[in-house]
Amino acid sequence: MYDFLIIGAGITGSLIARDLSHYQCRVAVLEKDNDVANEATSANSAIIHSGHDPHDGSLKLRLNLRGNAMYEGLCKELKVDFERNGAFVVAVNQSESSNLLEIYEKAKERGIPCSLLSREEAIAKEPNLSDDVILALDLPSSGIVSPWEVCIAAMEDAINNGVELYLGNKVLKIDKKDESFVVHTTKGNYESRFVINCAGVYSDEIYAMVSDRPGFFVKARKGEYYVLDKFDEPLVTRTIYPLPSEKGKGVLVVPTIHHNVLLGPNSQIIDDKEANDNTAAALENVRKDAMKTVKNIPMNMVIRTYAGLRSSGSTGDFIIEEAKDVARFVNVAAIESPGLASAPAIAEYVHEEILAKKYVFVLKDEPRIERRPWIIINRMGNEEKQALVKQDPRFAQMVCRCEYISEGEIVDIIHRNCGARTVKAVKRRVRPGAGRCQGGFCEPRVVAILARELNLSPMDILLDGDESKLLIARTKE
Ligand SMILES: Cc1cc2nc3c(=O)[nH]c(=O)nc-3n(C[C@H](O)[C@H](O)[C@H](O)COP(=O)(O)OP(=O)(O)OC[C@H]3O[C@@H](n4cnc5c(N)ncnc54)[C@H](O)[C@@H]3O)c2cc1C
Repeated sequence: MYDFLIIGAGITGSLIARDLSHYQCRVAVLEKDNDVANEATSANSAIIHSGHDPHDGSLKLRLNLRGNAMYEGLCKELKVDFERNGAFVVAVNQSESSNLLEIYEKAKERGIPCSLLSREEAIAKEPNLSDDVILALDLPSSGIVSPWEVCIAAMEDAINNGVELYLGNKVLKIDKKDESFVVHTTKGNYESRFVINCAGVYSDEIYAMVSDRPGFFVKARKGEYYVLDKFDEPLVTRTIYPLPSEKGKGVLVVPTIHHNVLLGPNSQIIDDKEANDNTAAALENVRKDAMKTVKNIPMNMVIRTYAGLRSSGSTGDFIIEEAKDVARFVNVAAIESPGLASAPAIAEYVHEEILAKKYVFVLKDEPRIERRPWIIINRMGNEEKQALVKQDPRFAQMVCRCEYISEGEIVDIIHRNCGARTVKAVKRRVRPGAGRCQGGFCEPRVVAILARELNLSPMDILLDGDESKLLIARTKE
């Protein structure tokens, strides 16, 4: 019997698991996919928003402000990158300028560091702002991360400290007993005193497994993006937001932690919760909208497009509470933007404001096992590199020439406690396939390494989900 079962290994489920791993309790995470961080957590804008945008009085606002303040410390503990690169919200006409003044006043009231910049002051900091920009709100506390790296690192840390992760376990049914729940998945049954529902776009359907009157629903709201190659001279150094509208924060131009640039997202409610494909029409709108705030965008540097599905809840706010009709069943639902920015604060809130009222937490006696950072030879000096290669020559075997990634780094992330099992999982951890050639050179090599290290046939190696076999037959001996 577990004390806590968490459904969903996105950023919210993983950080809640990590939080609980500090205490004397038995915790497991059930995830339907082959890897953690596979859904909204892997397809978003990667911004740790300052908190200028959510509505007054909302849980989104409270947790965004707290999450932003927590991120730097969290990333230090997890040994992953965080950069407080700042953001501009820009106005391109007079009516937008007066709206921007309102956002500025609100940001000040919220205690968010901010200032208004004239066109000249803004251009001095971001020379590629469009010629139409007349006023900018400077938000220096905005930051960027690699969302999946934070999530994977959080899960590695949680597993180091006792959490059990069960991948490929899709929750199908939940039986309520007097003092516990039995959760039935595609691979087995798990019994727990508490269930924490962090199932993203499916969180309403998971809740409906235990409730006759769930009281909320979650729609998928799609956002599409372009990814631009790395720049010699940065196109922008900060996130550039347009004025927000009723559809959300609008199309952004975002520098990433790995020095690419993202253009997007648009916003479209869709019925199919699996439809994270790209469409030419949506991407064309993204391109046009991005050009309203930033000029000189080199569209010939696009190396990829992608789409993510936001969990848009019917209440308009995050839904984080013990279900009113089902004791010990906790919904962490409708976690759309700013869910990434809020995630550490969501974990804290779930623990302190919900679980601690029903469960007596006792800290573990033994010292915590610290997470070992990923090996990144690209960032090492020559001496360090040579020492590593002396120990293991696979660190001199380049597998990915775009991102400069060696066989040794890939082998390391396969054999970790939340190890990569698919090509996409390898890419998410150490980036082969994330560069200019998008896997054209390295993908067959990654398949061969995965097969060798996992003792499988290359035919069994998947790109991502169960239906994504890369090789179907041998053409020559
Ligand atoms: C286009 C877009 C842009 C965004 N930009 C930002 C941003 O810049 N900043 C920000 O703060 N936020 C942003 N967000 C929001 C942020 O990405 C999400 O709030 C966050 O990733 C939600 O994490 P999660 O763990 O709740 O959900 P998810 O990452 O979706 O994880 C839910 C998990 O539950 C699993 N699951 C579902 N059903 C089952 C089942 N039956 N059994 C087992 N497992 C199941 C899924 O497989 C998945 O792994 C954006 C979102 C999108 C889509």
